[in-house]
Amino acid sequence: MRARILGSAAGGGFPQWNCACPNCVLVRAGDESVRPGTQDSIALSSAGERWLVVNASPDIHRQIQAFPALHPRGPRHTPIAAIALTNGDLDHVVGLLSLRESQPLVVLATERVRAGLVEQNAMLRTLARTPDQVTWRRLELGRELLLEDVGLGVTPVPAPGKLPVHLVGLSEPSPEDNVALRVRDLATGRVLAIVTSVGAIDREIEALVRGADAVLFDGTFWSEDELIALGLGRARARDMAHVPVGGPEGSLARLGALPAGARVFTHVNNTNPMLRAGGPERRAVEQAGWQVAHDGMEIPL
Ligand SMILES: [Zn+2]
Repeated sequence: MRARILGSAAGGGFPQWNCACPNCVLVRAGDESVRPGTQDSIALSSAGERWLVVNASPDIHRQIQAFPALHPRGPRHTPIAAIALTNGDLDHVVGLLSLRESQPLVVLATERVRAGLVEQNAMLRTLARTPDQVTWRRLELGRELLLEDVGLGVTPVPAPGKLPVHLVGLSEPSPEDNVALRVRDLATGRVLAIVTSVGAIDREIEALVRGADAVLFDGTFWSEDELIALGLGRARARDMAHVPVGGPEGSLARLGALPAGARVFTHVNNTNPMLRAGGPERRAVEQAGWQVAHDGMEIPL
């Protein structure tokens, strides 16, 4: 399996347009300890011909441009066989609106995520200009969906999360709102766990991670009060449904010693101090055998 990080940053990207936190200041100054990043997206393929893209970020146009394997091979063509959505957050779905031009798309989503996008949202009709433009394929919790043309099987696992901000108050929370993905290479049997947005490490998430050959995990925040301490907001990491990386209850302490080969934190918010190479937080990550993702990183599998 090839797994490539198209975008390693959480919502807002790195730098974020309206942020002058210490990290954003450093990256704008071209400091070598930090690398800019686009918003969360991952491309996966068994043989490298047909690809599954996980999440369609607002940066998808330049992410495709930056990765030749996703370039069209004919006048009207795309190697992207399907797009899987792990939740309905705008950071993960707005990119769908950039993939118009009458291109047929296959979108994998839970019924809740599909309904949250399509119902009551007139703009999504731009993807329904013809009846066969978008094929929605339902992700059912715990059931593997086979993508024969990509050579992968995708199993959604409920991940503690939250409703997208724009749906709060409009719909009741459901286990289908936010999922992790178990991606299995049909040729080799190798398994990648994609858990890029998770509010708690429950038994199902822990089992998914422990049973994988490589792991991409939620690296949004280092600490619970990261935004508060920087004067950037009042929400704690848990309020935003993200397990912090650091601290005694953090993911590094909980999942530090894993059998998995590659262990990578991605979906990293621009405020996270582990973005700074050589800093104490990055050293703690690396000493535990984990890595911090960057755009263009390939995960060996
Ligand atoms: Zn910032």
